Formats: sequence, structure tokens, C-alpha cells
Amino acid sequence: MADVEYLKSQLTAHPDFPKKGIVFLDIFPILRNPIAFETLITHLVHHLTSHTLATSPSKKIDVVVGLDARGFLLGPIIALRLGAAFVPVRKQGKLPGQCVSATYEKEYGTDSFEMQADAIQAGQTVIVVDDLIATGGSAKAAGELIAKQGGKTLEYLFIIELMFLKGGAKLDAPVYSIVQSD
Ligand code: 5GP
Repeated sequence: MADVEYLKSQLTAHPDFPKKGIVFLDIFPILRNPIAFETLITHLVHHLTSHTLATSPSKKIDVVVGLDARGFLLGPIIALRLGAAFVPVRKQGKLPGQCVSATYEKEYGTDSFEMQADAIQAGQTVIVVDDLIATGGSAKAAGELIAKQGGKTLEYLFIIELMFLKGGAKLDAPVYSIVQSD
């Protein structure tokens, strides 16, 4: 599809960032360019309305969950276009009030994600959004937080999927990614 090739052409690769041996794929050039940003949001919302909603028995998306931090740049816009709620998942200690938490593996050690305990009601349908899926550890923790609150994750949405890490295999719902990278 032309828009996929266009969005792919906007991504930049940064060898040895944030440390030696890692090639970091940067999505910020898309956000710098209003035509590319609009193309991105329209692509994702079109996917959700024409595919995800069409194949889901519930025919509705109640909540868009965005992951700390680049998921916060996409999630609220998608939520507004769908008429859905936006809910952030944040690193531990950042959200006020009662929270639910889940731990995930990082390259060295573990980290915790939190969501406000009243953010999702039992039975609500949820989409998870982030810029990139690598090992899938952070998306899996978000899925656990949604399940703890009785939500049903319909799909995990990313701009980029690092295929060789097979992160999608850890998740409890299908993955949709615009760009697949080896
Ligand atoms: P995972 O938990 O799937 O191993 O890692 C995914 C998280 O790491 C995402 O929140 C994503 O923003 C970040 N991440 C890891 N590598 C990259 C990268 O190359 N580019 C970008 N934009 N984000 C990355």
C-alpha cells in the first residue's frame, strides 16, 4: 500500500543508540511532518474501523490504552477519532490514586507498569497502542493490567514490529503493525 511505503520512508535508523549494537528506529520524523502524521493516524483508525471492529463480536472499542511514553502521542488522537476513552499505562510511581501493577522483564532486571484501578470497567473492549514492539514484554504487562480489571483486549497496535524477536507470540490478542522490520 502506498501509505505504508510512505510512512516507512519517514522512519530513521540510528545505529548504536541508546547503546552499542542497538539500531534504534525513530518515529519522530513522522510527527514532525503533518502530512505523514495524518497519514499514520488515518491508517491506524481505518484499520480499526474496517478490520478490527468488523471482525470483533462486540462491534465497539471502549478504551484505547497507550504505553509510556510514545504510546501517549498516538493513543489520545486515535481514541478521540473513535469516540473512545484514553487510558495511560505508566512506569511505577507516576499515577495518583489506587493503581494496579504488573512487572515485566527488561534487558537487565525488571520494571513495573501501572494503570489507575478505576480506569477500565469489567467487560470493556480495549486496544493497546505503542510505537514499537520488540520483545513484547511491555505490551504483555499492559495486557495483564487490562485483564486484571476485567477488560478484553481486542488488538495490539504498533507502527513497527521487530519480527525476529517474536514479541507478538507473548500476547493474548492479535498484533497489527504497519512496518515489519527484521
Ligand atoms: P519491548 O517491551 O517490546 O521489548 O520493547 C518495546 C518498548 O521499547 C516500546 O515502548 C518502545 O517504545 C521501546 N523501543 C525499543 N526499541 C525501540 C526502537 O528501536 N525504536 C523505538 N521508537 N522504540 C523502541
